[in-house]
Amino acid sequence: MRLYHPLRRHARRLVAVAAISAALAPALVAQARITAPKDFFGFNIGDDYRLATYTQFVDYWKKIDAESDRMVVQEIGKSAEGRPQLMAIVTSPENHRNLAKYKDIATKLARAEISEEEAQRLAGEGKAIVWIDGGLHATEVLGASQLIETSYQMVSRTDPETMRFLNDVVILFVHANPDGMELVSSWYMREPDEKKRSTGGIPRLYQKYIGHDNNRDFYMGAQAETQNMLKIQYQEWYPQIVYNHHQTGPAGAVLFAPPFRAPHNHNFDPLVIYGVDLVGTSMHSRFALEGKPGAVRRDQAGYQTWWNGGLRTTVYFHNMIGLLTETIGNPTPIEIPFTPEKLIPQENYVYPITPQTWHFRQSVDYSVTANRAVLDVASRHREQFLYNIYRMGKNAIDKGSRDTWTDYPRRIAAVQEQIQKDRVQQAEGNARLAAMGGFSGVQPTKYFAELRKPELRDPRGFIMPSTQADFLAATHFVNALQKNGVDVLRASQSFNVAGKSYPAGSYVVKTAQAFRAHVMDMFEPQDYPNDLQYPGGPPKAPYDNAGYTLAFQMGVQFDRILDGFDCPCQKIPGLAEAPNGTVAGSGSGYLLSHQQTDAYYAVNQVLKNGGEVYWAKSAFQANGKTYPAGTFYVTGRGASRAALQKLAAEEGLSFEGGNKPNVETMRLYPTRIGLWDNYGGSMPSGWTRWLFEQYGFDFNVIYPAELDAGNLNAKYDVIIFVDGGIPETDRAGGGGFEGFGGGQPNAESIPAEYRNRLGRVTIAKTVPQLKEFMENGGTVITIGGSTSLARHLKLPVGNHLVERLQNGSERDLPREKLFIPGSVLQATVDNTTPLAHGMPQKLDVFFDNSPVFRLEPDASLKGVKAVAWFDSDKPLRSGWAWGQGYLKDGVAAVEAKVGNGMLFLFGPEITNRAQPHGTFKFLFNGIYYGAAMGKNGKPQVKANNN
Ligand SMILES: [Zn+2]
Repeated sequence: MRLYHPLRRHARRLVAVAAISAALAPALVAQARITAPKDFFGFNIGDDYRLATYTQFVDYWKKIDAESDRMVVQEIGKSAEGRPQLMAIVTSPENHRNLAKYKDIATKLARAEISEEEAQRLAGEGKAIVWIDGGLHATEVLGASQLIETSYQMVSRTDPETMRFLNDVVILFVHANPDGMELVSSWYMREPDEKKRSTGGIPRLYQKYIGHDNNRDFYMGAQAETQNMLKIQYQEWYPQIVYNHHQTGPAGAVLFAPPFRAPHNHNFDPLVIYGVDLVGTSMHSRFALEGKPGAVRRDQAGYQTWWNGGLRTTVYFHNMIGLLTETIGNPTPIEIPFTPEKLIPQENYVYPITPQTWHFRQSVDYSVTANRAVLDVASRHREQFLYNIYRMGKNAIDKGSRDTWTDYPRRIAAVQEQIQKDRVQQAEGNARLAAMGGFSGVQPTKYFAELRKPELRDPRGFIMPSTQADFLAATHFVNALQKNGVDVLRASQSFNVAGKSYPAGSYVVKTAQAFRAHVMDMFEPQDYPNDLQYPGGPPKAPYDNAGYTLAFQMGVQFDRILDGFDCPCQKIPGLAEAPNGTVAGSGSGYLLSHQQTDAYYAVNQVLKNGGEVYWAKSAFQANGKTYPAGTFYVTGRGASRAALQKLAAEEGLSFEGGNKPNVETMRLYPTRIGLWDNYGGSMPSGWTRWLFEQYGFDFNVIYPAELDAGNLNAKYDVIIFVDGGIPETDRAGGGGFEGFGGGQPNAESIPAEYRNRLGRVTIAKTVPQLKEFMENGGTVITIGGSTSLARHLKLPVGNHLVERLQNGSERDLPREKLFIPGSVLQATVDNTTPLAHGMPQKLDVFFDNSPVFRLEPDASLKGVKAVAWFDSDKPLRSGWAWGQGYLKDGVAAVEAKVGNGMLFLFGPEITNRAQPHGTFKFLFNGIYYGAAMGKNGKPQVKANNN
């Protein structure tokens, strides 16, 4: 499944899929005996040393679906590897007969475009919709196991409580990762000696491309499984409660369950947090009720509600209650260790567990307890949850319809600074006296007025002009919003807002909608509060990224509109189709803008079809206008007009007739790309693999042993090391295995097909081969930590993030002084150099405690130059950048000559989770520019197309 290409065909296909699933009708039969798991699998769910595969799981669900009048199993789409992804709807037979009605009620309440009276009536009539999933992180095998057990119990039990749940609640049991369960269960069960079975050491990622990051894809919706689940969550069922199962628990405890620790994101409704607290607390209390100790909450684990993008966190921005548990347990029994301090009851660990041997079935039972606690509170508070999701949606619509302000931490800090300044002045410069008065606590309200200045209002909407250089990027962004149920409008004619004219085709997103929080979170900066372990102490790491504003990451141009406005706009149904591109004009060939990242798809297509493509190294005049440096020129030979017309129609790319630019050009050739990976699978490598497929780059995945064997120029023109590829040192821990399940196994213990993946990149053996590869004309592209290659090669590139000690020596800045977790920063780019062609001078980059370089004085003599750098002491655009002033004058991207070849260094995560569309061009440019330079423009051998 392709996110990006072709935009138009893709959009139509998604509509077709939706139509098919809507046609599915429940097929219910009267309930007889329900086959128990043991009678089907040959073991009880949770028995030691046993796991079911996804294939068996599918057959089991189909069987009990046929036996039960409480269950209907649906396919919600295909997985990345083509398996059917299943959801089971479980509720009373009576409710099943009225399912369409309950879905409609849930939709109307979530969308909140109804009157208060109707909302109250529908809340009374509706059923609570509760999502319970399993298997997202496939090595966390409890998830899928508890899903089987809970669904079995809910279709077979007849006790009064179960019957009440079925009457009040429509349960959506969702399998979150079919391919992963098949892989991990087969891996575990392949060992005949059950004592040797292990879920560790799996050979590849348990989601084809992204493994564990399948819980990092939800505002983007890049992957197949995410898209399937987003459709259920934000377009079909709108569950009020979403419960996402994980492993493993904190040491000395059985599980973490909400409430979560602060900070909470500033965009969503406070009722979200109170809802999470209510449901979470009922989980804890049910554990106590059933005599199941060992549940911790809040700051006993790192989980938060700040970051958007996880299965259970994106739901907060849609007014839903998102739950996560992290529970211990494995079919191979484990020990709960003795941790003395954990035996004393405390605020967030009320009911401690004692050390003991722990069997998988106990974890399954705990999970069932947790699920039943959720169903219980959903049943008892059914009407309240249904009304509250309406109330939150209505609050959001109201907020988007009037002037509102968000009191961001940075604004509060500015006011506090002002108060402090004024105090010092009043005290005639006596800072100590002023400080004694303090600037916290109650202050005159004139300072509050500073926070309510009209220019600080939250936007009523955002407009993305259709004339922006990369409107296709805006279209991809719009589709991420559409997948998340956001209403996006398109202007059918030109219009004016706030004195500016916008052309027809521009996209408009108004904040007066139920999912306003998600809109704000995707367009506006996150402002993560300074969160220190103690005053003056080191920062506390956020659970995931602190700042991630998608519009920034994707390089989308938009205007924030602070007053209410109207436009001649229509809601876009389904995914947005890119406007048709054109093939116009005459000449010996065609000119294609380099500012559109999608142009690379066309370049790759044309080259694969034997066409000729050139890249203008500077700006030039043609057709009565100036074309910027980087413009692609496709000759008429090899690329037929019809082929380009197809690309124009499908990709929305425009080709203008013209002659070959009368400036220096580089000819592009099919390029042989090697993408580093290792045993177990690197997630950044997998994301890049996915990205290459979207853009039509052919590539080989290359493992350490092949690198170490050398003679790399015979097979590759460009080799790419994403973060984690090149180690800092050859000591253990560098550049190693990053799977979630253990280290590298012995070669004899794994299937032969995976043995060539074993081994690690080392400075001793691999780096000399890379050096030879570059000296012979090859290009190496490094991202994040892999940029340490420059140091291994002794290039004049140092670390900018150091401090000088009194004895004159340098050391890395300590965490107390510098800490920049995943955030968006602004860099300045030399876009006259081909590596940065097509990019703006001011560029948002995704930074995650990334390397920042300092070029040594002899750098330019040695052919090493800065391509992007931080020229401000306040580069933060979104997130948290503790000590950001240290970045000033540091270098973010470097190009270096190494012999006849090139080395490119990118400190920031330019392809992070396939989200920063605005920086993908660094990678794509690097591939073709490096290859062209490496061969000095001479024709290359034909690419291998595998
Ligand atoms: Zn997990």
